[in-house]
Amino acid sequence: MSSVPLAVTVPVILLLMLWGALWGSFLNVVVYRVPAGLSIVRPRSRCPACLTPIASWHNIPVVSWVWLRGACASCTAPISVRYPAVEATAAVLALAVAMPWLASTWGGDSLQWRPLVALVGEQGFVFVWLAIALIDADRFEVYDAMSLPLPLLGLALAAVVGEERGVDWQASGIGALVGGAGFALVSWSYGRISGREGLGLGDAYILSGAGALLGVGALPAVIVAAAVQGLLFAAGLLLVGSRASVLGERGIASARHLALPFGPFLVVASVQWLLLHRGLAAVLPWAVD
Ligand SMILES: [Zn+2]
Repeated sequence: MSSVPLAVTVPVILLLMLWGALWGSFLNVVVYRVPAGLSIVRPRSRCPACLTPIASWHNIPVVSWVWLRGACASCTAPISVRYPAVEATAAVLALAVAMPWLASTWGGDSLQWRPLVALVGEQGFVFVWLAIALIDADRFEVYDAMSLPLPLLGLALAAVVGEERGVDWQASGIGALVGGAGFALVSWSYGRISGREGLGLGDAYILSGAGALLGVGALPAVIVAAAVQGLLFAAGLLLVGSRASVLGERGIASARHLALPFGPFLVVASVQWLLLHRGLAAVLPWAVD
């Protein structure tokens, strides 16, 4: 960012966060409507309680929810804090993913297209991952239509901007294969040994996409980080003494048994690697090839 003057940096940061928040707002609609088989275009967003269409000035990401104190403007029914939380998360992630690319995007006299492709591609991954994680948290279901294109997108990014991103097509292709086939094998063995299906094939699709974007070298750390955080979360829930709907609107409580979906933790760990691997390489060079 050193080469970019402050007068440029601040508006760019605000625009990136607005861009992310608008995507977050769209993802809220996608996550609610796609699993229900509804159109994501029509009708306009409505209050789920009184069905009044939400006016556009009441539909500004995060701001409107705070302004209306988390209630519908017509019937004052409470509106879940999850909506602004998703919008804020998408805003922060859009900015965090873009940061390492900003300086090189503005390198030279004109906009550089290669860093821009890397930036937009990584943001695309993060937004789709967010939708996958939320739907999995709600429904214990990884949406194939969202998870299956990701390995291809990762390979495409490796082919176009592999050098810039430090993940060439070999690392990407092997990552997609190992992530998909490797996890499917683990899932199958787990099912044979435990006599029940614990890890779905959907998680293998997520990991295949992660391997394609992050490279095969990232997979061990991503799997371990996902498992550790999943176990910590489960332990936290037990400590709180409730399996109530922490993650989802329709709730874990209404879903199956004590199980937690693994997909959201795979997504969290993949995003962590995407954002932190450069810093990790500086601190723990032996852990990052
Ligand atoms: Zn209402």
